[in-house]
Amino acid sequence: MNCSYCKKEMKKAADSYTNFGTVLDLEPPEPVLLCKKCVRDEIAFWLELGVMPNHWIMAKYEKALADKLGYIRCGEHEYVRWKKLKLQQHEAE
Ligand SMILES: [Zn+2]
Repeated sequence: MNCSYCKKEMKKAADSYTNFGTVLDLEPPEPVLLCKKCVRDEIAFWLELGVMPNHWIMAKYEKALADKLGYIRCGEHEYVRWKKLKLQQHEAE
């Protein structure tokens, strides 16, 4: 298999995620496979932006990233989203 980003060959993906499909898709979207280096780059990218990526099936790195950026996982099934926690304030759903 190859890394979906840099196309480097790898035995096993270091991480992977799956994007949301659209109503026009005939089949569910393919997972995006990442090598170690691209996972590091990806984490650095989102850390710099300070926001979470929104994937249908989340990558393993997202949990640690969410802790750093102050996001929590909300919702169920296809409505699951990362949500930014506000400091010293509780938001009503
Ligand atoms: Zn790569």
